[in-house]
Amino acid sequence: MSMRIDRVLLDRQRIAVRVSELADQIVEDFNARVGNGGSGGGPNGPELTLVPVMTGSVIFIADLMRQMPLMMRIGMVSVSSYPGASTESQNLEVKSPLPDNLAGRHVMIVDDILDSGRTLSHIKQMIAERNPASLQSCVLLDKPSRRQVEITADYVGFEIPDAFVVGYGLDYDGYYRNLPEVCTLLAEGKR
Ligand code: 5GP
Ligand code: MG
Repeated sequence: MSMRIDRVLLDRQRIAVRVSELADQIVEDFNARVGNGGSGGGPNGPELTLVPVMTGSVIFIADLMRQMPLMMRIGMVSVSSYPGASTESQNLEVKSPLPDNLAGRHVMIVDDILDSGRTLSHIKQMIAERNPASLQSCVLLDKPSRRQVEITADYVGFEIPDAFVVGYGLDYDGYYRNLPEVCTLLAEGKR
């Protein structure tokens, strides 16, 4: 079935404003929580390690991190889900290793969208095993009505209804990631 863009759910301006608010909030909270001389620092003092989940968070992380005046490093992880696996908890494949040396670090996982919750919960569990100093998560979009695993993100850009969305990094079959807006899709021939 071919799909085409239905309508703009979040335009560039709304996304930009919200990403900027998220960045401010994360930085403010980080400074309050970790501050000067807190644990989890690098050689230059307190620092944050961002772990973006590729490929969907590519645009989000780029916009977000440039508005966060913190000492930070970034180590991406890539995960793909493959349908048809025997159990729900087993249908995730981590395709790139986690960054090294997460022990004692303040880590923030960044993903495009929280849907069933399986991806975030899986990555969270893997990172938690590395004994980070703290572990938080930030997602641009959240579809709470779709949740199958009990999990919430610490920072959420927008709660959206149960619709399949593309753009701003999110794809349909690999396409549409370059759209600057978040849009819904329409099945061809439906209208
Ligand atoms: P979860 O593991 O929470 O079910 O799914 C998270 C992943 O599923 C996201 O990182 C994203 O890759 C994909 N996903 C979930 N909902 C959507 C959607 O509406 N549009 C797109 N393009 N991807 C989605
Ligand atoms: Mg994804």
